[in-house]
Amino acid sequence: MSEVAQDGAGQEPQPGPYVDLHAHTTASDGLASPEALVAAALAADLSAIAVTDHDTVAGVAAARAAAAGTALDVVAGVELSCSDDRREVHLLGLCLADLTPLDDVLESARVAREVRGEEMVARLNRLDIPVTMDMVMAHAGEGNVGRPHVARALVDGGWVPTFREAFDRYLGDGRPACVDRPKLTLADAIALVHRAGGVAVWAHPQSEGTREKVMRYVALGLDGLEVRHPSHPAPDVERLARFCDEFGLVRSGGSDWHGEPESWKPLGCQHVPAPWLDALRERAIRHAAAA
Ligand code: AMP
Ligand code: FE
Ligand code: FE
Ligand code: ZN
Repeated sequence: MSEVAQDGAGQEPQPGPYVDLHAHTTASDGLASPEALVAAALAADLSAIAVTDHDTVAGVAAARAAAAGTALDVVAGVELSCSDDRREVHLLGLCLADLTPLDDVLESARVAREVRGEEMVARLNRLDIPVTMDMVMAHAGEGNVGRPHVARALVDGGWVPTFREAFDRYLGDGRPACVDRPKLTLADAIALVHRAGGVAVWAHPQSEGTREKVMRYVALGLDGLEVRHPSHPAPDVERLARFCDEFGLVRSGGSDWHGEPESWKPLGCQHVPAPWLDALRERAIRHAAAA
């Protein structure tokens, strides 16, 4: 743990231990079970990992059970798909203390994802691809159905050569088999995360993370920005870190791991210092004390 990371953003290197605050499991569209995520986090020498599945917290308990008796801390999290001004925005709820306020909303999201999965299959059928919902569900298992499960079914059936091409041709934003689904407004999602005792962090803002938007989201109660993410080049990291200082937001970061071989970067790749998690937790505790 004496390793020192260059964060590649013109900032001072920060020493470990490191955490990873954005990871998916088979509870949503990850390839690794919660147990396998914990094993990967231990192998990467992380001190904490946040389980942040799309629209579900179903992987948290199994990850916690797998990490029991180890030095790994499992943070309860979720990645909510929200709408803002007709654009999709992802919100991370981190350090969730009470999962019950999420139950109804996440159950509605699960059903909406199934209905949407069927619509994606119907669209593919109209494009002369005879994929079935059963083939998709074979990949989704117990997890929340998403576009990656459809993509894997398309690869399996031989209709596309690669996962990536499934998105490029059919499933990516604006492609012919990409179907929208009802989403929470960003304001409602932030309020929901707060009711669950957590902190609300804007996931991978990328170039959308402008001063105007950050200010508007701060007014809605946003707590933090995911400063470090594999999709963020150094200028994004620097700008978002500055906004955190300017608007009193907490920094977060993670790999957005989906398991191998589909992940674009390994677990722990963002070298997020453990004190960032401490600051997120303090913010959650302050909310709880003020409530
Ligand atoms: P969904 O929540 O069902 O809309 O699926 C979104 C997920 O699909 C993202 O979290 C990624 O895991 C994956 N995804 C979205 N766009 C792409 C893309 N162009 N290439 C590969 N994976 C993608
Ligand atoms: Fe995903
Ligand atoms: Fe996301
Ligand atoms: Zn994610």
